[in-house]
Amino acid sequence: MSKKLLKNGYVLVSADDDIEKLDVLIENDEIEDLLLPENTEEIEEEDVEEYDLSGKLIIPGFINMHTHSAMSYFRGVADDSSFEEWLFKEMLAREDFLRSEMAYYGAVISILEMISSGITTFVDMYMFTDEIAKAAYDLGMRAYISRGLSFDNEEGWNQRVKENVSTYEKFNGLENRIYIGFGPHAPYSVSFDKLKEIAKIAEKYNTHIQIHLLESKNEKNQYSLSDIENTGLFEVPTIAAHCVYVDNEDIKVLSKNDVTVVYNPTSNMKLGNGIAPIVDIIDENVNVTFGTDGCASNNSLNFFNEMKVGSILQKYKYGPDKLTIKQILRMAWENGGFALGERLGRLEPTFKADLVVLDINTPEFCPKDLKRMKSNIVFSANPRNVFGTMVAGKWLYFDKKFVNLLDEGEIYEKFEYYYKEIENNFNNRVCDGNIRNNNC
Ligand SMILES: [Zn+2]
Repeated sequence: MSKKLLKNGYVLVSADDDIEKLDVLIENDEIEDLLLPENTEEIEEEDVEEYDLSGKLIIPGFINMHTHSAMSYFRGVADDSSFEEWLFKEMLAREDFLRSEMAYYGAVISILEMISSGITTFVDMYMFTDEIAKAAYDLGMRAYISRGLSFDNEEGWNQRVKENVSTYEKFNGLENRIYIGFGPHAPYSVSFDKLKEIAKIAEKYNTHIQIHLLESKNEKNQYSLSDIENTGLFEVPTIAAHCVYVDNEDIKVLSKNDVTVVYNPTSNMKLGNGIAPIVDIIDENVNVTFGTDGCASNNSLNFFNEMKVGSILQKYKYGPDKLTIKQILRMAWENGGFALGERLGRLEPTFKADLVVLDINTPEFCPKDLKRMKSNIVFSANPRNVFGTMVAGKWLYFDKKFVNLLDEGEIYEKFEYYYKEIENNFNNRVCDGNIRNNNC
């Protein structure tokens, strides 16, 4: 049995609570109790590891509901390109050169960035799902991973579905923190028939679906969400990234089918896709969460940015009284837990011990008025305020350092080596029988 007592800190139990001085008792991977500091003497006599967090603020860990972790190699590529150019010309052409060991280190780099930005759970859609699951497992993160499934021909499709199933069989449920879903990429890359097929498979494995929906303007002319509803996809718990171009009818479909929406404000703005109508979506009682998307389109995995940018875009679109701090923090925390069917996003007893310790002895948190701390988390804080990150009762980051990381230097070295290999291959790739030129 392993117990930890986090002493003398301030605690924000959930988006709806006020900040209080409480001690947090953790047993194995769960919060066991929250105690007033004067009531912890008996516990201190037991066999517990104690951590003095005086002057720190403990909050639930952030839940990043949409990312592509292995895409860290593509950070800073095609910064000034349209969504279509970015995806079809720059990303897919580089992805041809990714190999499994590269994907492992790509995911590791993103996971390190997420841990140091206070993210404790990530939802990922990509190729090389075994490697991504292994990276999450090795580094102690909580992760929900799906193979990105697109259709080119029957053989290719079947191969990708097979990989998705194989990762499910190897990793699903591992340490109660790695889960595998299915990831039909988007309705423009997967036919309605194939969506129908994948819904049945996900149902059989009793797992969730991740999909990109109505991310770009061009998609608006191609399908509506009633079309997707008719495939039966939404009969499986569905996590829908983006939803920038949903109209009122689409929003009703999301609501009726309990689809979770992932708001990716930075990626949507950077690729010029636009502002998702989040206030209207929430008004229809849809569960809305945050995602960073991959760092190829963000270009960082800084969750504090998402909350701030996400909030101010909605204030710009609907008026400054819209999307309150409480709503933003619910989207960052418990709405993600609700979507994933796990006790995450609140620091109550029986919830998972996934939490972040913020250093509030910094200019960003002055004045130190407890009533303003929630505002500071959304609008002022940044990753340098993250003092510690705990997942499932284990510290992954403490005193602003990674815990139990075998060789951080080797990770960066391997990553750079593989990055160079991808770029070399990309620059020398053969296109229509010739070495790449500007038209290829
Ligand atoms: Zn995406």
